[in-house]
Amino acid sequence: MRRSLALALVAAMVFGSVQPALAYLKFGVTVGGAQMTLKWAQTPVRYFVTDQGVSGVSATDLQAAAGRAFATWQAVPTASIAYQFAGFTAAAPGRDDGLSTLGFRSRPELDRVLAATSFVVDAATGTLVESDIFFNSAFPWSVAPAGEANRYDFESIALHEIGHLSGLGHSALGETELREGGGRRVLGAEAVMFPIAFVAGSIAGRTLKADDIAGISDLYPDGDFNQALGSISGRVTKDGQPIFGAHVVAFDVARGSVVGTFSLNAQGDFSAGGLSPGPHVLRVEPIDDADVESFFEAARTVDVDFRVGFIDRIVVVPRGGDSGEITLRVVRK
Ligand SMILES: [Zn+2]
Repeated sequence: MRRSLALALVAAMVFGSVQPALAYLKFGVTVGGAQMTLKWAQTPVRYFVTDQGVSGVSATDLQAAAGRAFATWQAVPTASIAYQFAGFTAAAPGRDDGLSTLGFRSRPELDRVLAATSFVVDAATGTLVESDIFFNSAFPWSVAPAGEANRYDFESIALHEIGHLSGLGHSALGETELREGGGRRVLGAEAVMFPIAFVAGSIAGRTLKADDIAGISDLYPDGDFNQALGSISGRVTKDGQPIFGAHVVAFDVARGSVVGTFSLNAQGDFSAGGLSPGPHVLRVEPIDDADVESFFEAARTVDVDFRVGFIDRIVVVPRGGDSGEITLRVVRK
């Protein structure tokens, strides 16, 4: 999965519509004809850092900033995933060597790709055995605590890529505008896992949002995740027919937080987990703030030909339970 500068690129990974309980997209992998969620079987996930720095970011800086990003994911109280720095290596990321490695590589031909995450999956079990992250040294980078003008914040981009390394796909909780000359500019994002990065100089991407927290907790639930939180599920229909790929957004009225999900099968079923108990407002919208391929493999039939809609009542999420079947009806544009 690539984090693009201004244009989301085609994903190399296959997204699975694995289980209905998705609070965001999880990666899927097909094993023996069955869809399985892509995740680590064991934690801590051990990672290495390439001993090569770039202008403004030494290898030690890189390791420290990546360490902060790993620690941010690990600190989510309702998730159990953990990571461990295993040492510096002379190997570059992207080699299929059984070691998960983060580091810089010069890829000037990828002129919209800031960083990308690759995976090696056990074909028998579907579990992750290796995940590498490369950061494109063709761009200017910074690890300055408050950010640095015209340089990309390494920690912010690392946080996004480590979400992928952990098994998370992209979230659609962001707003963009088209730029003159192509690409998109991010106006706002309510998920670190939004596919398009903030502008150079911004450090807004260092902080996980409710959607990211729901996502990592759903993949690696810990503590009282299942007892303390709840879910909303149902289906999306247009003219009475189920639709695939509709973006469903749950606003927590009391907390002001947002979690998104998608209708993910031929029946139009969606489920948003990891929600705080209490009243939520539901909105359903077409994916139109990034390329559809940023979220789903191109072959999938994602319906974007409908108007934004709201359900005509407040949905109360029960503690440790589900809202029960909710039908969101949309109309074509
Ligand atoms: Zn990404």
